[in-house]
Amino acid sequence: MVSVKDSSFSEQIKQLADSYLKNGTDSGNLCRMMKKLFTVTQHHIDQNIPQEQLSMIRCRSGCSHCCRVHVPVLKPEAVIIASHLRNSSNQTVLGRLISNMEKFSLDISAYDEEERVAANKKCIFLGRMGECTIHPVRPFACRSVVSADEKACRESMRLTLLDEPVLVPMNILNKSINDSAFMGLAESMKDNGMDDRSVEITSGVLACLR
Ligand code: SF4
Repeated sequence: MVSVKDSSFSEQIKQLADSYLKNGTDSGNLCRMMKKLFTVTQHHIDQNIPQEQLSMIRCRSGCSHCCRVHVPVLKPEAVIIASHLRNSSNQTVLGRLISNMEKFSLDISAYDEEERVAANKKCIFLGRMGECTIHPVRPFACRSVVSADEKACRESMRLTLLDEPVLVPMNILNKSINDSAFMGLAESMKDNGMDDRSVEITSGVLACLR
């Protein structure tokens, strides 16, 4: 999927991330930074995408056709998800989740993107009703994909393996803003001596929970 960078917003996010990362990379600081970056990014979306376009978005809790692809996360994104899980689960539930994540991470490591869709390996963070259980702290990659046609999403997943591409109408401005935030954060991490490579969400969060 093509990504169009909004250089000025990406630079704004980079400078904001710099202001946090210069004070350290402990998990508390990374969580505070991510909360701020998510808030600023959402504000930028609200200010720059016309309401009539936002009202065309069909994504909702319970619709999870796209939640079966590999999702890339940067370390601070994994850290805030791990913190959210720790704060919202007791020890027993968290222990069970970690064990499930270990099995799931191993399982999907054998698949490329299309194979995973065909095998219907849904995100480990999907709830029973198809809701995202980490919605307030979901990563930029998930925030960037918003669809105006649920049927097209369903069909695009069904036909992936048949090599029959289905066009899904998306809000490209929303994608550009979230992708730019992701890139601004990665640039700041690099400049501040952190590893700026992304990892698959399950293994990334697991590493933070262990
Ligand atoms: S983190 Fe949430 S939105 Fe993203 S793929 Fe998983 S369930 Fe879907």
